[in-house]
Amino acid sequence: MSTGIVTLIGAGPGDPNLITVGGAAALAAADVVVYDRLAHPALLRHAPRAEKIYVGKKADQHAMKQDEINALLAERALAGQNVARLKGGDPFVFGRGGEEAEYVRERGIEFVIIPGVTSAIAAPAYAGIPVTHRDAASSFAVITGHERDDSRESGGRAAGQAEGRRRWDKIANAGDTLLFLMGVENLEEITTQLMAHGRSAETPVALVRWGTWAGHQKTLTSTLGGVVEAVRAAGFKAPAVTVVGEVVNLRERLRWFDRGALAGKRVIVTRAREQASGFVEMLRARYAEPIEFPLIRITSPSDNYAALDTAIGHLQSYQWVLFTSAPAVSHFFARLFAAGKDTRALSGVKVGVVGPATAAALKEFGVAADFRPEAATGAALAEELPGEIAGARILIPRAQEGEAALLQILTDRWAKPDEAAAYENVVDGEGAEEVRKRLAEGSVDIVTFTSSSTVKNFVAALEGAPLPADVKIACIGPSTAATATELLGRAPDILATEHTLDGLLTALENLA
Ligand code: SAH
Repeated sequence: MSTGIVTLIGAGPGDPNLITVGGAAALAAADVVVYDRLAHPALLRHAPRAEKIYVGKKADQHAMKQDEINALLAERALAGQNVARLKGGDPFVFGRGGEEAEYVRERGIEFVIIPGVTSAIAAPAYAGIPVTHRDAASSFAVITGHERDDSRESGGRAAGQAEGRRRWDKIANAGDTLLFLMGVENLEEITTQLMAHGRSAETPVALVRWGTWAGHQKTLTSTLGGVVEAVRAAGFKAPAVTVVGEVVNLRERLRWFDRGALAGKRVIVTRAREQASGFVEMLRARYAEPIEFPLIRITSPSDNYAALDTAIGHLQSYQWVLFTSAPAVSHFFARLFAAGKDTRALSGVKVGVVGPATAAALKEFGVAADFRPEAATGAALAEELPGEIAGARILIPRAQEGEAALLQILTDRWAKPDEAAAYENVVDGEGAEEVRKRLAEGSVDIVTFTSSSTVKNFVAALEGAPLPADVKIACIGPSTAATATELLGRAPDILATEHTLDGLLTALENLA
């Protein structure tokens, strides 16, 4: 068995978009990922097939010791696994990446270093503070604050040990902008020493906590003379980057990440896993914190497409095909293409869709909908379907066990609807416990629903736990709203006027 490779990957400071392309690719190729607290958990998605090992601090326990981490990396690589060592920020900026690399090399293991975006620069940037600026600073220095807890968490050796030997005269003048990492606990010493070595008590100071983490980032601004008291009064805690220098004043003009109606809002996204990512990205772009709660997973239907394939075999015998969801569209076309046909098989057949999102999904296959009702419900689609409907053959590829109203109304209009399962929604309870916990501790602002089934599954996942009154309910459209009102006992606070994800987002921004 050949020895694996250890890849030290910079995870970036938090925002999952700040990992490098190379870092993401290395995660995808890894057999095992070893990560800690400052690496965003969403990054683990890049490594779906890898074993994940957390070595950071747990709620009531200490982090794994650096020696143990070193040994773990070597042991796995020697066993033939490719090991991704995911480290917050950049692995060589106070990350003890150098020690890990040295340790594995001594054991004959190859390593690769993938640098990352360091919190030293990115956390201030997300607070609207550039580390250099033509008018305010032409240099910056990144300095350890020797904060015990965090240095242990990131594997710090002998935290504070060198304290007595620190050359504060040099540190105080190391750059126009001083950036302290691991400095919160030691702030009093740092500020006292900087003032003793020539920095004015009026020098602006900012602490940026959980920088780039949507929903978590907090910034405190003060002065060298006042910051210790301000931090104490605010109960401000690590992890934070402390910025000392005139550049801090630029925040007033350059603040961006923590602005806007959705900034910092914690939003549960209850879509199917396969559909969630677009909406999650939209929320992140508004600086909200998406809490992904994939309640349903989409799989093939239990008849393994038998009914759908048969219908596709004689598509020309239908007058209409109706789509009531985007996945129905994509699965229909997947089967159509698998049968060796293309969109021409739909020529002469009219196509109806329930709403704009389904229409957009259809458009992606180059097909324009012939009909879409004003209200985005299956019932409206069936009731308002135009033309000679009596006797018309209508194909409805849709979720297994889709709503009954649609078929009933079409039958009442003397049409001949044919239902064919295009996919199945199965309950995916993963993350339920986490969401119940967050609801209980009050760390959720909004829960979003994009279909009746997401409401149903959400209520089931609550297992009787109440939805706190201050959590706002947001729904994409009227059917979803009706189900929410019925099952959650109150009407939604936020209802999209346009029944698409964009519409839902706009509604959230208006009312959040
Ligand atoms: N290698 C990391 C630093 C590890 S030392 C990097 O390049 O960013 C750990 C310290 O980094 C913390 O104590 C804190 O000072 C800082 N830090 C890391 N991530 C941070 C974040 N998202 N926001 C603020 N500070 C952060």
